[in-house]
Amino acid sequence: MTVELIHPWTGEVDYRYDYVGEAEVERVLAAAAQAAPGWAARALDERGALLRKVACALRARKDDIAATMSADMGKLCREALAEIEKSASACDYYADHAIDYLRDGAIATEAQRSYVTYEPLGCVFAVMPWNFPIWQVFRFLAPGLMAGNVAVLKHATNVPRCADAIADVLREAGVPDGVFGVLHIDNRMAERVIADRRVKAVTLTGSERAGSAVASAAGKHLKKCVMELGGSDPFVVLDDADLDVTIPAAVASRFGNAGQTCIAAKRFIVTPGIADAFVARFVDAASKLAVGDPMVDATTLAPMARGDLRDEVHAQVQRSIEAGATLLLGGTPGQGASHYPATILDNVVPGMPAYHEELFGPAASILRAKDEDDAVRIANDTDFGLGASVWTTDKARGEAVARRLQVGATFVNAIVRSDVRLPFGGTKTSGFGRELAEHGIHEFMNIKTVYVA
Ligand code: NDP
Repeated sequence: MTVELIHPWTGEVDYRYDYVGEAEVERVLAAAAQAAPGWAARALDERGALLRKVACALRARKDDIAATMSADMGKLCREALAEIEKSASACDYYADHAIDYLRDGAIATEAQRSYVTYEPLGCVFAVMPWNFPIWQVFRFLAPGLMAGNVAVLKHATNVPRCADAIADVLREAGVPDGVFGVLHIDNRMAERVIADRRVKAVTLTGSERAGSAVASAAGKHLKKCVMELGGSDPFVVLDDADLDVTIPAAVASRFGNAGQTCIAAKRFIVTPGIADAFVARFVDAASKLAVGDPMVDATTLAPMARGDLRDEVHAQVQRSIEAGATLLLGGTPGQGASHYPATILDNVVPGMPAYHEELFGPAASILRAKDEDDAVRIANDTDFGLGASVWTTDKARGEAVARRLQVGATFVNAIVRSDVRLPFGGTKTSGFGRELAEHGIHEFMNIKTVYVA
């Protein structure tokens, strides 16, 4: 089947390509299986040296790759450059730290010696999304390669050139054939890849719908999987928050990457003493965002990645207004093929899509709480459990609130972000398993017990 990519800003067909067939799938899986033992057997410092070369190659090609990201999914050029640097840093980080993370771990028992040792699993199949088309891949790939695994990537259909750019970078850096493969395949073929005996584990970042399909297929074949799914992160503003800090953070967290971030703040939960001041200043700051061509420096709000995604967010906004939400800003699709303006809904309450669903675009929901306890209750009143932030000048109070939130990561007076040094992942329907840090590198390893009596 031929896929046509529509440029998110111009609306014109920008690229055409074909999904690959069975023969190419067989070639890539066979190459991965063949490369796996040799890659696992390499010394850690050799794998680390190659990963550092990958980081260099990424940095050397950053301008080209940023333009590719922008053409595939509409990312602002400066956000793309930052994403590439973050990906390169993750390679350096795991090259530096894997030795500590993978050291045998002694455990005292009555045995003469007992310990755990970490062994790679083999080929990990990765199903990745379009929203951070370079970072999401390196988030699993950098620890995965240092762990001694090989990888096959099925990227989202709308970012094929990003997938190819990653393959080029690894090849240029000297990563051996078969250690990383790309498959441009549809979702039906992806299920067959999951079933293939050469694939040992599966990782997915994306929607709950995709996660449910892929986790079911992995479960059917008893393969370990990690699921990084959607979120509707609360951004809890307590009465004593410093709005000079909070407002820029709220705007950056909700409207960066055109709102298409799993850990973006989506539900702004405000307590009565600060609600009106927060809302007025948030609307004012968001109204200054400039929509436009993502390659132009003056643009501060990117187009969304695809027209259908824009239409979906618009429908959620419309249905919320029909159910009684107050539209304070935006709400009307504007310029560009898939642009959506910065949109803010106030008085969002149960029963509205903006209360229960993830708004994966530049649309913010204000939820007014009665007090701090009510703010915590509302924050937890969701099926999602990815991240949360709390804003207050009393750090101890912020930390106490943060610990009551049912999520994978809570930040006090800082935007929720993925950081290679910290474990990343969700609870509830936001997924399971962890990426990054020491926890992430162990997810796709056999944690093997050795006991010598
Ligand atoms: P999807 O979740 O459908 O896509 C993510 C990845 O999963 C893509 O590679 C996709 O492939 C793949 N995929 C989807 N369904 C299957 C399946 N049945 N079997 C195997 N692979 C599958 O994202 P969409 O582009 O459809 O975006 C829709 C929504 O997903 C967004 O509005 C947002 O809510 C959520 N999302 C969340 C992300 C996050 O970071 N948490 C990232 C992206 C999306 P293909 O592109 O070929 O369908």
